[in-house]
Amino acid sequence: MSANTNGNNPGAKRGMDVLRDPLLNKGSAFTEKERDVLGLRGLLPPHVHSQAEQAQRFLTNLRKFPDPLDKFVALNSLHDRNEALYFHVLCENIDELQPIVYTPIVGLACQRFGQIFQRPRGMFIGINDRGNIANVLRNWPHPVGIIVVTDGERILGLGDLGANGMGIPVGKLSLYTACAGIHPRLCLPITLDVGTNNVALLNDMYYVGLRQTRVKGAEYDEFIEEFMAATQEVFPGALVQFEDFANHNAFRLLEKYRDRICSFNDDIQGTAAVALAGLFSALRITGTPLTEQKVLFLGAGEAATGIADLIVSAMVANGLPREQALRQCWLVDSQGLVVKSRTKLAEHKLTYAHDHPPAQDFLTAIKMLKPTAIIGVSAVGGTFTQEIVEEMARINTQPIIFALSNPTSQSECTAEEAYRWTNGRALFACGSPFDPVQLEGKTFVPRQGNNSYIFPGVGLGAIASGAKSITDDMFMSAAHALAHLVTESDLEQGSLYPALPRIREVSASIAATVADSAYKQGLARKPRPGDTLRDVESQMFDPRY
Ligand code: NAD
Repeated sequence: MSANTNGNNPGAKRGMDVLRDPLLNKGSAFTEKERDVLGLRGLLPPHVHSQAEQAQRFLTNLRKFPDPLDKFVALNSLHDRNEALYFHVLCENIDELQPIVYTPIVGLACQRFGQIFQRPRGMFIGINDRGNIANVLRNWPHPVGIIVVTDGERILGLGDLGANGMGIPVGKLSLYTACAGIHPRLCLPITLDVGTNNVALLNDMYYVGLRQTRVKGAEYDEFIEEFMAATQEVFPGALVQFEDFANHNAFRLLEKYRDRICSFNDDIQGTAAVALAGLFSALRITGTPLTEQKVLFLGAGEAATGIADLIVSAMVANGLPREQALRQCWLVDSQGLVVKSRTKLAEHKLTYAHDHPPAQDFLTAIKMLKPTAIIGVSAVGGTFTQEIVEEMARINTQPIIFALSNPTSQSECTAEEAYRWTNGRALFACGSPFDPVQLEGKTFVPRQGNNSYIFPGVGLGAIASGAKSITDDMFMSAAHALAHLVTESDLEQGSLYPALPRIREVSASIAATVADSAYKQGLARKPRPGDTLRDVESQMFDPRY
């Protein structure tokens, strides 16, 4: 599906209205013929540029900005002017631009959202819209296939940013389009403004949200219930992706809605699939089966329990009894090893609260449990110390070490540390980008276990098949599909994920797997095509003019 002006112009806009519509505008690239047909004569400078020339001009200017936040703003304004060019530039330079459009720079953009605000994008639905949410949603001008929604309470590792969290659903939907070709017209970012408990924001004159503290309890639940029902009333069948909700709501909302409405939580389920794929790749190197792994997590939140749940499902699928699989996953939180004897454990940790003597810290837990893999999802930087990494290298010939916390400052260890402290034996994946590492004549190329390998393809597969819900089986299939695309030469250089520029191929493959799973499980609203891969590929938006 290409960014064709006529095909995208159902209302047959003309003249200035075309130039002001970012979904139609091509700026100086409108051809002579289009200028005649669309009434653009005189409204543009005479020379017709190619899209490649426009992209080059934009990139040359972008690269002159030393401050990444200025780059973020420049990309945003291009997004507001000309979507096809924005996505063309993003797709062709995904390695360079993803860290600006999404983590880590989007975090900074959310912190400064009020100051850099220029034009609204997406929808803000406030607690005061209660009773009227469906009508508010009807103000959106297009039919919608996918919604990314946050309430801003836990933005990345940055905490409660209230309505300033809008940068996250906007950035995430950019990646749905860039990485999986979901048409931008189908994408709707939403921020639910239920207040914020961030006092600095409440006192910030530029803050974009309501000046009140967070609504909680029954009032919050009723608001979410009305919102979820309204999404399906106004946009029937739309996929709803929960994003950056705090722990106390994230698990609850996922369980409440996942079977009722096509929905998922990327922080829990997308993270799980990307980490499991990395584990599959690591096991291709060690040659050991999944069922023999013992995984110790630093952190016991959405990422940790999500990953642990999917590893358990994968172990069970490989023949291990569930009870045994559970005992091969262990969590350490800020109070030490999560064990049965601990009181006041949050509900989401209980599944992994095993009957075991306590351990106060991570190193002690490693010595006691002798894990084959450690996964850092604590959002606390530097916590995989030299002693910890060396202990893993003492226990294992090839220790699996994933330092997944974001942003870079929160990473449990750097790639360089992981390789150096294990004499190059670590099988390493990271949550933040790290440069290649030279060690004793070998170059290691660490790759980011970025959720963007998974969620765009899952979304595309769900839309293509009209999935009624998104199941664990779909995430497991997505993990297999991703791992399958890792080549032998990737593995030889220590890369546990494919190169990011292959992302559209990766997403198409995952989408086909997810759609097939929907057809197989009787969850699809659309008829099964003869060739699922070709079917999903044919639905991908191509940002070239
Ligand atoms: P979360 O808030 O749900 O969980 C954080 C957990 O860490 C909590 O259980 C907390 O108790 C624990 N913790 C805090 N301090 C600790 C300490 N000193 N020692 C041990 N545990 C401690 O957050 P989350 O969604 O699980 O995300 C955690 C981190 O993982 C974030 O930095 C996030 O950006 C990152 N993440 C990365 C990816 C990825 O790379 N693909 C995906 C999701 C999340």
